[in-house]
Amino acid sequence: PNNEFKHMVEAHTLAANFYSHLLLNTVEGEEALQYLEKRGFSRESIEKYRIGWSLNDYSALSDLLKRKRFELREMEQAGLCIMKDDGTGYFDRFRGRIMFPLCDDLGNVVAFSGRTLSSGKQEAKYLNSPETPIFEKGQLLYNFHNARLNVRKTGKVILFEGFMDTISADRAGVQNSVAVMGTSLSETHLIKLKRIAKEIIICCDGDDAGWEASKRFASMALKKGMEVRIALLPGRMDPDDYIAEYGEEAFREKIIANPHSYMSFIMSYAKRSKNLSYENDVLQYIHEVLEELASRSSPIERDLYIHQLSTETGITVEAIHQQFMKMV
Ligand code: ATP
Ligand code: MN
Ligand code: MN
Ligand code: MN
Repeated sequence: PNNEFKHMVEAHTLAANFYSHLLLNTVEGEEALQYLEKRGFSRESIEKYRIGWSLNDYSALSDLLKRKRFELREMEQAGLCIMKDDGTGYFDRFRGRIMFPLCDDLGNVVAFSGRTLSSGKQEAKYLNSPETPIFEKGQLLYNFHNARLNVRKTGKVILFEGFMDTISADRAGVQNSVAVMGTSLSETHLIKLKRIAKEIIICCDGDDAGWEASKRFASMALKKGMEVRIALLPGRMDPDDYIAEYGEEAFREKIIANPHSYMSFIMSYAKRSKNLSYENDVLQYIHEVLEELASRSSPIERDLYIHQLSTETGITVEAIHQQFMKMV
């Protein structure tokens, strides 16, 4: 690695240790620590994921970096500092947030995501590092370096939308999970995952955005030739909410061990926004499912889901089949 890379990673490591110290050992970090405890974080996961706290201060990290002889100009490039408007100096990007280090595939800290403590909407819930020479959002998968071995062993990887979900899943004994940073999954992510896993279990939040993301992620992974399953959560819960509400065992046994096949997910997805006691919704529902079925080649799958559609809607198998033949 070149010097720039080395300095930037060193600075991030220093920052992660600094934030961690502030969270675990100082009065200023107490409120954040209590917040994490209230959310069910164990001391073990706080340490494993190197979670920390950034002081409500404009120069705490910058001062430390300067003392350790890092150049703040370079630290700005690394995303840790921001240049003052008048150009006279730099200030800390992350202030008063719970800090989650983001690691590359080797476990080097290359960026941060900071969560606000307040639940109000005035400020963004998460603040992430910008893209830098050492951090590309479309490359990084949260927890990849920890999960890699377990993914290889099981041949399966579980994909979450939020890194909080990965941390909770880990605590619940699901140790082959990763998360995207935000809601986009990239080709690079998939190439990386396909190299170590045959099967991907997609487990997004139960809200509308999460369902959309599940559909998008699932079809991308199918195109890449992975075996795809989709784990669905009741209500509008995300995996972390589910674990808090129903417990770790239920999460493992009911959600993760029991994911939907792609077509079964498509049927649930198509039904979600419809009321099958309305004629129009029935027609639309059948249409959407047949459309997906038309792009799948297995005759057994076709037969299976056409029968299922018939049972659900009361339309005869023959009629649905005829409709289907017009679409392929
Ligand atoms: P929490 O449980 O603390 O509310 P979450 O993981 O449920 O967090 P979501 O709102 O579901 O958070 O968002 C999922 C992911 O999307 C987050 O992990 C984060 O990477 C990204 N994200 C959410 N909100 C923002 C934001 N305002 N800016 C940048 N990224 C965000
Ligand atoms: Mn969400
Ligand atoms: Mn969520
Ligand atoms: Mn959540």
